[in-house]
Amino acid sequence: MIDFHAHLDLYPDPAGAVELCRQNGTYVLSVTTTPSAWLGTKRLAKAAPRIRTALGLHPQVAHQRKRELSLFDTLLADSAYVGEIGLEGGKEWKPFFSDQVAVFDHILKSCEQAGGRVMSIHSRQAATDVLNMLEAHPKSGTPILHWFTGSQKELARAIDLGCWFSVGPAMLKSANGRKLAASMPKDRVLTETDGPFGMLQRRPLFPSDAALAIPMLAELWALSTQDVEALVRGALTSVGELAGPQIWKGMYVI
Ligand code: MN
Repeated sequence: MIDFHAHLDLYPDPAGAVELCRQNGTYVLSVTTTPSAWLGTKRLAKAAPRIRTALGLHPQVAHQRKRELSLFDTLLADSAYVGEIGLEGGKEWKPFFSDQVAVFDHILKSCEQAGGRVMSIHSRQAATDVLNMLEAHPKSGTPILHWFTGSQKELARAIDLGCWFSVGPAMLKSANGRKLAASMPKDRVLTETDGPFGMLQRRPLFPSDAALAIPMLAELWALSTQDVEALVRGALTSVGELAGPQIWKGMYVI
């Protein structure tokens, strides 16, 4: 099981959530929403080598947390993964869009200077702006567009720009999500839940629920579930290699 975008620190019992993931053997990219949450969230998973903690600054809090960019830059040297970052174009957050752009631009520049990072990126109602900024920072690393909801045209551009994707059961419940996933390059797709925000049947998803995406992808791609599992495992290994051998040595050979 691979959940490449979950908020372990935002479950009601974060330590319990980590322990369950450890027992289940789930590979998790544990994303954070503020730089000040990173060290504590990372510490939670110190006995769980399959959990990797990404340094993030979520676009929905960019205007409140932009002062934490200096902390972000300090911590970046120790984090192979960055996320959740990106832009949020929903009308509730539109008044803060210029702050979001300034924060995301700063982060992409910092990642470029640091030699590139694996980045889990939010692009809801802002896919074109996100892609413009990624194009302007080609050395920022490997972008993984999480829960992509753009148009087919934006998807085609994202693929051309070398983006990867993480898709989950909640996204694949919608007709548009399925249509997008059907057009994604099969070797650049990871599974995710976005739990506890990602929900299914009014229940917050747990990282092990990322497995629910496998049969859904198998149907869309006309492949067996075993083939899809192998593809997703392969994508995890490739992304791990991109994150740097010093981080991944001896790991994720599955
Ligand atoms: Mn998220």
